[in-house]
Amino acid sequence: MAVTTRTAKLVSNFEYEFGGPVGALLTTILLPVVTVLLTSWASLGRVDLDGVTDPDVLCPGCDEEEGRLTLLRCAAAVVGWFLFQGLLERFLPCEIVEGGVLKGGPNEHGERRLKYRINGHLAFWATLLFVEVGWPSMVQVGEVTRRGPPPRTVLQFGRAPLGLLYDYHAELAVATVVLCVVLSSYLYLRSHYRPGLLLAEGGNSGNPLYDFFMGRELNPRWGSFDWKEFCELRPGLIGWALLNVAMAVKQQEKLGYVTGSMALVNVFQFMYVWDALYQERAILTTMDITTDGFGFMLCFGDLAWVPFTYSLQARYLVDHDPHLGWPALGAVIVTNALGYSIFRGANGQKDAFRRNPSDPKVSHLTYLQTERGTRLLTSGWWGMARKINYTGDWIMGLSWCLLCGAGSIVPYYYAIYFAILLVHRSIRDDHMCQAKYGRDWDEYKRIVPYRFIPGVV
Ligand code: NDP
Repeated sequence: MAVTTRTAKLVSNFEYEFGGPVGALLTTILLPVVTVLLTSWASLGRVDLDGVTDPDVLCPGCDEEEGRLTLLRCAAAVVGWFLFQGLLERFLPCEIVEGGVLKGGPNEHGERRLKYRINGHLAFWATLLFVEVGWPSMVQVGEVTRRGPPPRTVLQFGRAPLGLLYDYHAELAVATVVLCVVLSSYLYLRSHYRPGLLLAEGGNSGNPLYDFFMGRELNPRWGSFDWKEFCELRPGLIGWALLNVAMAVKQQEKLGYVTGSMALVNVFQFMYVWDALYQERAILTTMDITTDGFGFMLCFGDLAWVPFTYSLQARYLVDHDPHLGWPALGAVIVTNALGYSIFRGANGQKDAFRRNPSDPKVSHLTYLQTERGTRLLTSGWWGMARKINYTGDWIMGLSWCLLCGAGSIVPYYYAIYFAILLVHRSIRDDHMCQAKYGRDWDEYKRIVPYRFIPGVV
């Protein structure tokens, strides 16, 4: 009942983001197209080992019937991958951790905080073990002889055929987009038919196109299975790392070795994914989990955009490696290390401070005590700029792009897109903090006037 009252009030004073319903519709249509185009562009003009340029992108060399069959197989592979990650989430040992106090809660079950199964890090290693040694296949052993026993078909386990992820990259992206549309449609519809659900403030405008995009329900669940937290970290993020490994496998097949750029992009992005999964509980306090509904925006972002476009540098390197020398690779390593130190330093400092302000690592830091009860750091990383963690993240992303040399703009899409995302996200967060903290936020902004780079911006 409380939810219904809140909803009615919000609809009349609703503040749209992302350009309102028109922006939401355009983004819903355009981003999937951009995803498939990017995976395709990264392959354009690829030269096969025999030197023949293959211009076909979706299912090279296929006729229409074969193409359809390939898409169906890819759809089955995508669903299988999703289910596999779901099984790991359900059955691997886990730690049960409580999330933050629910905004607008308690929920329909009377809970003020939700409990989460934290085992993403274990799922990551279990997945890698599975693709390295646990891939099942039926193999025929023995030969047809007149006297000997007939050949038998036996089950064997070994390395997964990862090169296929390169061969069917675009088709897998298309199948994943379809899965995202189905999942977010289901979640949107169910939010209308289950009474008393806790809805996300930002996804409850009453405009169906906008709400479908933003997500109506705050924390859609099947029992203890949390759709949003699961999708944020597992199929997409682990899928990204796996696609990168697949690209390295493919490069090894094509060239006979793995280049410095390919090795580094794998290491850097592997660390990024590992870090997110290792710190899984930190996601419980992020805007995505605490504030945003689980609609097409997050669903598509997590499951399709992240794995298929974030793996673009590795994809590009399979066909167009610039063969950078040691000085260039060294410069990229330094850039990445700089970005990582800022990113991890700032996020770790805030996390440690919020957990335990007396921790010797952070007890020397100054802070602003807010009326709301929480403390805002005003020295250390957070005294330099209000979103210095975003700056570090972007520098890391730039280093990934630099590994691809200067031959094409396509692998640089990440640095361009990520800059736009982070600037927009910082504006959204600033807006929310202004609403949360009021005058305290003005004071914090006076003490820490820069947003991204101290003394500059
Ligand atoms: P932040 O980690 O910056 O968290 C913002 C919140 O932190 C604020 O709402 C406020 O919440 C609190 N806060 C702000 N200033 C201070 C301060 N001085 N002291 C203490 N607390 C403060 O934001 P995100 O969740 O957006 O990002 C987390 C990380 O994830 C970032 O490094 C970002 O780069 C990365 N990221 C990566 C993406 C990708 O696609 N690769 C996408 C999005 C994010 P409150 O006070 O209520 O706790």
